[in-house]
Amino acid sequence: MSLPTATADVVIIGGGVIGLTIARALALRGISDVLLVERARLGKEASSAAAGMLAPQAEADEADDFFNLCCQSRDLYPTFAAALREETGIDCELDRTGTLYLAFTDHDQGEIEHRYDWQVRAGLTVQKLTPADARTLEPCISESVRGALKFPDDIQVENRRLLSALIQANEKLGVRVMTASTVESVRIDCGRVQGVETARGFISTEQVVVSGGAWSSFIKILNAASPNPRIEPVKGQMVCFDSTDVAPNLARHVIYSPRGYLVPRRDGRILSGSTTEQAGFDKEVTGAGVHSILSNALEISPRIADLPLIGVWAGLRPRAHDSLPVLGPCEQIPGLVFATGHYRNGILLAPITGELIADAIVDNVVSAALNAFSSDRFTSVGVNP
Ligand SMILES: Cc1cc2nc3c(=O)[nH]c(=O)nc-3n(C[C@H](O)[C@H](O)[C@H](O)COP(=O)(O)OP(=O)(O)OC[C@H]3O[C@@H](n4cnc5c(N)ncnc54)[C@H](O)[C@@H]3O)c2cc1C
Repeated sequence: MSLPTATADVVIIGGGVIGLTIARALALRGISDVLLVERARLGKEASSAAAGMLAPQAEADEADDFFNLCCQSRDLYPTFAAALREETGIDCELDRTGTLYLAFTDHDQGEIEHRYDWQVRAGLTVQKLTPADARTLEPCISESVRGALKFPDDIQVENRRLLSALIQANEKLGVRVMTASTVESVRIDCGRVQGVETARGFISTEQVVVSGGAWSSFIKILNAASPNPRIEPVKGQMVCFDSTDVAPNLARHVIYSPRGYLVPRRDGRILSGSTTEQAGFDKEVTGAGVHSILSNALEISPRIADLPLIGVWAGLRPRAHDSLPVLGPCEQIPGLVFATGHYRNGILLAPITGELIADAIVDNVVSAALNAFSSDRFTSVGVNP
C-alpha cells in the first residue's frame, strides 16, 4: 500500500499516550499537517496497561526537577480532562478523592515519617493518619496497618478512557494517523532531519518526534553523530478485580503500600499492581507475577480475597538508563525531538509533555523545565554506544 501523502509538517512516531497528547497539542496550536505513525494500533501498549495514578507525592523522597515536572503535569489534569471532554464528549473519569499511603512494618513507618517531614517543610499538602483514621476513611484496609499518609492532591484517571478521548480529539482536529506502519529510521542529511523511512515508504518532514515508548531505541537515526538514547522495556503485570456484586464501593481512594497498590474505578473494577521485571519484550502474565501482586493486595486489604478476578495483563514501561524521561529537541540535530523514557509516569506526565514539546516545535521555546531531561545528557557522559 502506498502512503496517503508522503510529506508532513511534523511526524510523530508512536501512538501511545505521549504521541497522542503531543499530536493534539500541536494541532491545537495551529500545525495543520501533523502525521502520527503507529506500528500497530493506537494506545494498546504501556498506556493502556497502566493504572492511571497521578501520584507524584506518594512516591517522592525529595523535591527535584523530576518531582516538580510531575507535580506541574498533575496540576494540569483538571483542565486537560475538561478540555478533552469538551472536544469529544468522553469523560476520562478524573477522580480527585486522593491517595492513601500505608505502613505495615517498621521500615514502612520510617519511610512515611520521612515523606511526611520533607513534604510539610516544602509546603505540600499531606496529612498524617492514625490506623483508626485510615480505617475510618477506608474500612477495607487491613487491621494490621500501623500508620498512613493522605495525599489529597494525588489523584487518578481512567487511562483507557483518556486514550479514547485523545484518539477522538486528534481525529476531530484533523491529525492524520497511519496505523500498522513502523518507522524504521529517521533520515538526517546536511545535519538536519529530512524525513522518516517507513515500511510503506519515505515521508518527507522537517520535524520528527520520537515517542515510541519501550521500542524507541529501534528507530535508527541515520547519518547522525549521536545515536538514539537507549530505552529499555521494564515489564509490569496487573490484576483486575470486580467489586460490583460482592463489595460495592469497597474503596474510594487510591491505596498504596510500599509494595503494591489498589486503584478503584468508577465502574466497580479494582486494579492492583504491579511487578517490575527485566524480561525483554515479553508481555506474558506469569504465576509468580500474579502471586506477588495478590499477596501485596491482600496485605492492603484482606477483603480482596472475596472478589472475582476478572482480568490480568502486562505492559512495558519505557525506561532510560537513569530512569528519567528523555524530553525535548536534540541539540545536535535540528528537527529531531525526543519524548520517551517516561517509565512509571507516562500517564501522569502526558499533559506537561504535550505542552513543552509543542512550545519547542511551534514557538521554538525550550523551557528550562526540560534541561534535566535532554537527550544530550547521555552523549556527554558516553552512556550510549
Ligand atoms: C503495569 C503498568 C502500570 C503503570 N501505571 C502507571 C500509572 O499509574 N501512572 C502513570 O503515570 N504511568 C503508569 N505506567 C507507565 C505508563 O504506562 C508509561 O510511562 C506510558 O504509557 C508511556 O507512554 P508512551 O506513549 O511513551 O508508550 P506506549 O504507550 O508504549 O506507546 C508507544 C507506542 O509507540 C509505538 N511504536 C514504537 N515504535 C514504533 C515505530 N518504530 N514506528 C511506529 N510506532 C512505534 C508502539 O506500538 C506503541 O503504540 C504504568 C505502566 C505499566 C506497564
